[in-house]
Amino acid sequence: MTPPAATDRDGAPEGEEGAMRVRVDTDKCCGSGMCVLTAPDVFDQRDEDGIVRLLDERPPEHAWPDVREAAVGCPAQAIEADED
Ligand code: SF4
Repeated sequence: MTPPAATDRDGAPEGEEGAMRVRVDTDKCCGSGMCVLTAPDVFDQRDEDGIVRLLDERPPEHAWPDVREAAVGCPAQAIEADED
């Protein structure tokens, strides 16, 4: 039996392919809130001005389809989701 693979603090595989890293550009964000509707575990909006807040820079794999959809659907192209 093999020991469980090492993971970083978010549970993503450490140093292995198959991780997603999310970035948001708050200067581009226009506060539409589409990303929050699409992936509420990953994105939120600031109370004061509605600008995006990134909740999870390294979301778990089950959230990736929603994050990709949020990136594509962002009207300001303020979301980047890199997969490696
Ligand atoms: S969808 Fe884009 S523009 Fe709208 S709140 Fe999210 S990051 Fe901002």
